[in-house]
Amino acid sequence: MEETQRFCKKCLLRDIDPDRYKEEIEGYINALSPSDKAAPKAYAKRLHICESCEYLLAGTCQACGCYVEIRAAGKRVVCPKKKW
Ligand code: SF4
Repeated sequence: MEETQRFCKKCLLRDIDPDRYKEEIEGYINALSPSDKAAPKAYAKRLHICESCEYLLAGTCQACGCYVEIRAAGKRVVCPKKKW
């Protein structure tokens, strides 16, 4: 069987088109079902906490590796450092 090489197109931030990155993040969040999505106020509060967190680096949480804007959008998701 022939192996297909898999690679991540987004391994490096420098390789990401900023407009496309934003579009994809928003697309992912918009695709969440309402029952899985955090309420707008909760989402804003979470991101506010992330903005002042020492683990935030270029939109990524250094504690878990997630894009915080995606992580915070999930209703049942929690902060890996229990900040929200
Ligand atoms: S998810 Fe938690 S640990 Fe990660 S950046 Fe946000 S507040 Fe900090």
